[in-house]
Amino acid sequence: MLHRSRKLFDNLFCYIWSGHGNNSHTYLFPNALRGERPHVIVDPGFVVNETYEGCLDSLTDAMGSDGFRVEDIGLIINSHAHPDHCQATETIVERSTRTDGKGKINKAVVAIHREADEYYRMAGERMFNMFGMKAVRLDPLIHLAEGDLNLGRDEKQVALTVLHTPGHSPGSVCLYWGAKKVLITGDLVFNGGVGRTDFPGGSITILKQSIERVSQLDVEYLLPGHSTEMGSIIEGKQRVEQNFRAIKFII
Ligand SMILES: [Zn+2]
Repeated sequence: MLHRSRKLFDNLFCYIWSGHGNNSHTYLFPNALRGERPHVIVDPGFVVNETYEGCLDSLTDAMGSDGFRVEDIGLIINSHAHPDHCQATETIVERSTRTDGKGKINKAVVAIHREADEYYRMAGERMFNMFGMKAVRLDPLIHLAEGDLNLGRDEKQVALTVLHTPGHSPGSVCLYWGAKKVLITGDLVFNGGVGRTDFPGGSITILKQSIERVSQLDVEYLLPGHSTEMGSIIEGKQRVEQNFRAIKFII
């Protein structure tokens, strides 16, 4: 397996990419939704990356070892529209598709910020070509917007806040889970680094503003989109604050 699985809470699992080539980390809120597809996934990553590693097969195996099926994903959230975060979206939607007794088709729903959707329609194919790959369909049913995003209901509810944090890519979002002080940063902030801004639609000025915003949050677990040589997940309020201080110094 090319993913390292880490259970942070009963309702949050981290799949840390540990292969040789590029891929994003994936975060899973299992059993968050009601119904037959209860799992919510953030950034499913590549199907196959540039070094021909089977990223989605590895994720499927890693999730399977934890007792979760890709077929039972009901919501796919993309932090932004770069191929290394969203290529597997279309395949997961296909795998989740089932027809009920009345011939009605049900499948996983895709969520992404409106600006990321627009950017993807405009530049998605070019982005995939830059990676030497064929573009996939995203077809989001939900446009994420700044504010509350409540997964599930009652005592099982995971109450997230969507923060629009562009700079790395248009329509990039972070997800903040206030109850557990968790921040999923996509490619905004890493352990000891920040997302690159030299892809189309990137801006270092806007990236700095977005980092300034999220650095004000009360965070105990910073869950980045990729590892660096410094590591991946940052745990502990002090370490998170230290990381923000360090990256503000280097950018
Ligand atoms: Zn990216």
